[in-house]
Amino acid sequence: MEYVPGIPILKPSIDADNMAFWDAVANHELVLQKCRACDIYHQPPRPMCPECNSMDTLEWVPSSGRGHIYSYVNFTTDKMAYPAMKVPYSVVLIELDEGIRLVSNLVDIEPDDVEIGIPVEVVFDDILDDLTLYKFKRRAA
Ligand code: ZN
Repeated sequence: MEYVPGIPILKPSIDADNMAFWDAVANHELVLQKCRACDIYHQPPRPMCPECNSMDTLEWVPSSGRGHIYSYVNFTTDKMAYPAMKVPYSVVLIELDEGIRLVSNLVDIEPDDVEIGIPVEVVFDDILDDLTLYKFKRRAA
C-alpha cells in the first residue's frame, strides 16, 4: 500500500473519548477500552459502559494485536478510491482475538491475495511526523 505524494492524508478525528487510543498508537501500542465490572471490551471508545452504564469502570488495556481478516474490500480503480492512496489497495475489517473489530489496511498482502480468515498481527506505520496508523500484516496461524 502506497500513498500518492502531494495529496493530504486524512487524519483520525481525535476527541476526549479516543485520545488514549491514538496516543498509544503514536507510541506503537494497541490498546482497547474495557469495563472492569463487565469484563467486556468496547469499540469505539466511549465515556460510559454500554452494558452497566458505569462511567468509573472503563480502563485502557493492551491488546494482543492479533486477529484475523473478518471482511475486506479491494479498491482497484481510481473512481472510488481515496485519492491519497495508490490503487490497488485493500481496506480490511480485522477481528482481534479480543473480539473487537477495527478497520485498517494491510502492509504485506496484495489485494488479489486477501482472503477472509487470514491470521494477522498489528504493525505501526509512521506516515508523517504527527501521524502514525495501525495496520496489519500476515502472521503464522
Ligand atoms: Zn460495564
